[in-house]
Amino acid sequence: MSTSSRRQTYQVKIDHITVGSQSPVIVQSMTNTDTADAEATALQVQELSEAGSEMVRITVNNPDSAAKVAEIRQRLDDMGCNTPLIGDFHFNGERLLAEFPECGRALSKYRINPGNVGKGAKGDEKFAFMIRMAAENGKAVRIGVNWGSLDQSLAKRMMDANLASSSPQQPEAVMKEALIVSALESAQKAADLGLPEDKIILSCKVSAVQDLIQVYRELGGRCRYPLHLGLTEAGMGSKGIVASTAALSVLLQEGIGDTIRISLTPEPGTPRTQEVVVAQEILQTMGLRSFTPMVTACPGCGRTTSTVFQELARDIQHYLREQMIVWRLQYPGVENLNVAVMGCVVNGPGESKLADIGISLPGTGETPIAPVYVDGERKVTLKGDNLAAEFLAIVREYVETNYGENGRKRERSRIIPIQTA
Ligand code: SF4
Repeated sequence: MSTSSRRQTYQVKIDHITVGSQSPVIVQSMTNTDTADAEATALQVQELSEAGSEMVRITVNNPDSAAKVAEIRQRLDDMGCNTPLIGDFHFNGERLLAEFPECGRALSKYRINPGNVGKGAKGDEKFAFMIRMAAENGKAVRIGVNWGSLDQSLAKRMMDANLASSSPQQPEAVMKEALIVSALESAQKAADLGLPEDKIILSCKVSAVQDLIQVYRELGGRCRYPLHLGLTEAGMGSKGIVASTAALSVLLQEGIGDTIRISLTPEPGTPRTQEVVVAQEILQTMGLRSFTPMVTACPGCGRTTSTVFQELARDIQHYLREQMIVWRLQYPGVENLNVAVMGCVVNGPGESKLADIGISLPGTGETPIAPVYVDGERKVTLKGDNLAAEFLAIVREYVETNYGENGRKRERSRIIPIQTA
């Protein structure tokens, strides 16, 4: 998507990252370690960064956590990881920022939820303190409104006004409007307190797909702040992935959204990095960004009872993703590589010719040979038990030849570099 078809926004600098319509949509994630455990948190931030998270949020929920934020930053710097850290504050953020000023300096962005700051004049004071700290430290702020913690005094004010109106709306419509008003009024307050407009990002997260789309369309039309997208409490496994993809794809297609996070509940045993992979795959399959070579694989059917092609598709996908930690620096442009792994001759050769490299495995009853196509031409025919290793060797050679020094497909990478030691 060209930058002109993105919703036009202010450009917000967060260390080496720019968030806004002139930049690619940024992938974010969040740790689930205890922030007070600096070592575990730094290691998880690094792991998320290596998976491709361009900013990582950590919760700063108590004095023990706030006391460790500067150490986490230092540990990351020592590991050569320059990923910006976002501090997630609720209820006591102003106290933590006052007691641990080094925490406020070590963070690159603060996330403030106006619904969890406090009520009335006291809440206003707490909000103002955090905004002033951000302005003094030169940090950006995400004003992150959430359906589950909407400012209740604002909701009541708007509900009362709706009841008194001559043409009252449905309560759900008023609540959605309250989310938007909460974000916009808080942003205005922050700007009035001296936070530059190009230091403000907004989000209005809800947990239902259609509500999220409606809220963001409306919010996007009423301001120029960059928007952070995410379906809150998306859920576990395929439900969380599908719901997030459904909601975010519609908005991204309309040019709405400048950073994204996929709020998956990790299934036991699933790595935290899964949310990063899903976010990247949404952007890549929509053609908005490229992160890692894509594998086109057929679903298989009765024409092939062999699991060889399923295993090969899986292995090649894992291999390519693992290599990207090094390849993104060594072979710029390799993220645009397309590999096809197909199960039989029906669609195999055709898809293989369309990919940069493709292999068509033998279906049931077919001659046990696997033609490999490179740049549309049949290059070699593999057979025997060592097929997977031989195919991976062809992929490696292709990458070195085409994306290495003087490679004809080498190009300036659009991936935002993550420093590694
Ligand atoms: S390529 Fe062959 S094995 Fe794969 S889905 Fe199509 S017909 Fe079935």
